[in-house]
Amino acid sequence: MEKQQARYVLGKRADDGRYPVTVDGAPTGTVHRRHGSWYATLPGHRIPERFGTRYAAAEHLVTLVDQGIRPTVPAPGDRPTFVLDLRTAGTGLAATRTYQHLVPDLRPTLNNLVRAVEAMARLAQLGWAPLQGYPGADQGWLMECRLCGWTGRRFWSHLRGRNGDPTPRPINRHPGCIPVADMPALLITLAQDRRRQCPCASPHPTTVDAALIALNKVDKALHDGAMLSAAIHARALLEPCPASTLRAAALRAAHDQRTSGQPVT
Ligand SMILES: [Zn+2]
Ligand SMILES: [Zn+2]
Repeated sequence: MEKQQARYVLGKRADDGRYPVTVDGAPTGTVHRRHGSWYATLPGHRIPERFGTRYAAAEHLVTLVDQGIRPTVPAPGDRPTFVLDLRTAGTGLAATRTYQHLVPDLRPTLNNLVRAVEAMARLAQLGWAPLQGYPGADQGWLMECRLCGWTGRRFWSHLRGRNGDPTPRPINRHPGCIPVADMPALLITLAQDRRRQCPCASPHPTTVDAALIALNKVDKALHDGAMLSAAIHARALLEPCPASTLRAAALRAAHDQRTSGQPVT
C-alpha cells in the first residue's frame, strides 16, 4: 500500500456500529463492517462495493468526493448545502438512484407510501434527516439528528408523538444530544427552512388536485408492475422539500378522497 497522508479521518464507532468519516475535514459518510466485509456509506448515494479493511472503505469515500459526489443530507451545521442540493437535484432515473434511501422499505402500496410521506414531513419538523427509507412505525429507522449530527436508529412510533399530540418529546431524543434547553431555539432555526409553497426546480404536489394526479401515476405504475416508474413517482413525494408539511397534508387528503370515492372538503 502506498504511504501518503490520508485525506480521511475515521471517527469514533457509533452505537449502530458505524464509523463516521470526514474527508478533507468535511463530514462525508460512514464505514461499517458486515458479514466480514467493510462497506462505505455516503448519504444519498448507493455504494455497492465491499472492502477488505475500514481504511479501504474510507479511501473509497475520498475517491467519490474527488468525483464531485457529496452527501445529500445535511452535515451538522450545514443547512445551506442541504437547500442547495435539493434545488439542484436531478430528475428521472439518476435522481431516483440518488434518493433510493428515501423509498420506503415496505410493501409498495399507496397506504404505505402516504404514511411514509407523512413520516418524512414530521421527521423534518422534529429536526431529523432520514438516512434510509421509512421502514414502518415499529422498526428501527436510521436517521441523523439535525441538532447535533448524531446518527442512529430511532423507532418512529416513539418519535412521532402520541395519538395526534404534536409535541416533540426532546427528553427521549437520543443520548448525548444538545442540552434540552437549547433544543427549541435550534428547532425554530431549522423551521425557517420550511415554506408554504414548494420552491423546488421539480415542483412537488402541495394541493389536493396535484396530489391526486401524483397518486394516480404511482397507482397506475404499481398496477402495471412498472416498479421503476413507481419508484420515480414515489421519489417526488418523499424527497426533501421545504413544503413537505403541505405536501403530506395534500397527499393524505387526496388518498382519503380516492379511498372513499368522495371529494374531501
Ligand atoms: Zn442530537
Ligand atoms: Zn418541493
